[in-house]
Amino acid sequence: MKTRKLKQDKVNIITLGCSKNMVDSEVFSGQLHANGIDVVHENSKLDHNIVVVNTCGFIDKAKEESVNTILEQVDLKRSGRLDKVYVTGCLSERYRNDLMNEIPEVDAWFGTMELPLMMKQFNADYKAELIGERLLATPKHYAYLKISEGCNRTCSFCAIPLMRGGHVSKTIEEVVTEAKKLVRMGVKEIMLIAQELTYYGLDIYKKRALSDLLKHLSDIEGLTWIRLHYAYPHKFPLDILDVMRERDNICNYLDMPLQHISDNMLTAMKRQITRNDIMELIGNVRDRVPGICIRTTLITGFPGETRDDVEDMKRFLEEARLDRVGIFTYSHEENTSAYALVDNIPAEEKEARAQEIMEVQQEISLEKNQEKVGKEFKVIIDKKEAGRYLARTEFDSVEVDNEVVIDSKKALPIGDFVNVRITKAYDYDLEGEVI
Ligand code: SF4
Repeated sequence: MKTRKLKQDKVNIITLGCSKNMVDSEVFSGQLHANGIDVVHENSKLDHNIVVVNTCGFIDKAKEESVNTILEQVDLKRSGRLDKVYVTGCLSERYRNDLMNEIPEVDAWFGTMELPLMMKQFNADYKAELIGERLLATPKHYAYLKISEGCNRTCSFCAIPLMRGGHVSKTIEEVVTEAKKLVRMGVKEIMLIAQELTYYGLDIYKKRALSDLLKHLSDIEGLTWIRLHYAYPHKFPLDILDVMRERDNICNYLDMPLQHISDNMLTAMKRQITRNDIMELIGNVRDRVPGICIRTTLITGFPGETRDDVEDMKRFLEEARLDRVGIFTYSHEENTSAYALVDNIPAEEKEARAQEIMEVQQEISLEKNQEKVGKEFKVIIDKKEAGRYLARTEFDSVEVDNEVVIDSKKALPIGDFVNVRITKAYDYDLEGEVI
């Protein structure tokens, strides 16, 4: 009879949800590693005996995926292929008591701010001195860097503050130390993330300090690209754009979730901003950083959204011609203030509206990509797939934006920068040749 050979106490971390969750998993695995515990991310060899599922609880689909993943792992435990299953992250923070009753096979549940407690579960010490020590789950040439935790905004649809608490900035020194360590590990591109970047510093420095932070980060030798994700538009600190324009290693790229554009919806979503303010802000951003790539995300199907609101969103995309647009359908989340409203748009209609919006943007994206044909760009080589290299320009972030596909007889090392000329354009991708 075949016996199962497992390396004893090897921990596998499965991460669901966003890049912020990914960073938490990387920090946790760095802590385990520093305690001499064998730990891996998304272990395809399946030679682990302990699993930690880092869950997402953001919207319905994410919650479902998290629950299904926990159930799969619990099944593996039942069949003897795992010894322990632990669950952490947003879903666990939000629904721990219910989940404990429903899935008793899970050995322990942890919230989003219980890293020291989790370490205890592994008979390991939480080492506070390990600022920025992480086992990267990303390829080693790029990394996400979280500059703050939580959010003080009160957007009516958003459950994140329930799971991540209020805004807490890391100090500039802490972020810079972390960034330097990442660069020493071979990271060339850092994506700054937070629930809300622009609030950075207000809690600890009593002023918005993102521009100061950017200057310090941009001085780090060897850091070729710094990219900004998730900037709230209300009271946007325009001074960060001056730093972006002046510093070569800050990508001319801004991810600014707008969520909607019609004034009715912006008010109902409690976004503290109007359509006019948004148009003015986009104009300012483009004036200060000519050629900047603006990415946004939008939501369709918020309670009370009318046909006019949808038409307005389409008009806005035509007018603003943003570079990248992602879209979510509204998810009715308990304990948010929008939960008091009637979720009156059927799921299929929410999807249909999202599709309609994306069709408008698809056209814009194609036109914008066609304008790049014949032009030259510096790109970073991310990977090789089916004999072709996949790269990105400074205007494209990881996973969510365009890729530049390169056919090259010459080997291109992963993580290197090369210059390419764009030869072909598609809706969301480009083809290029090395110059
Ligand atoms: S700013 Fe972002 S994270 Fe904060 S409440 Fe609004 S949508 Fe949620």
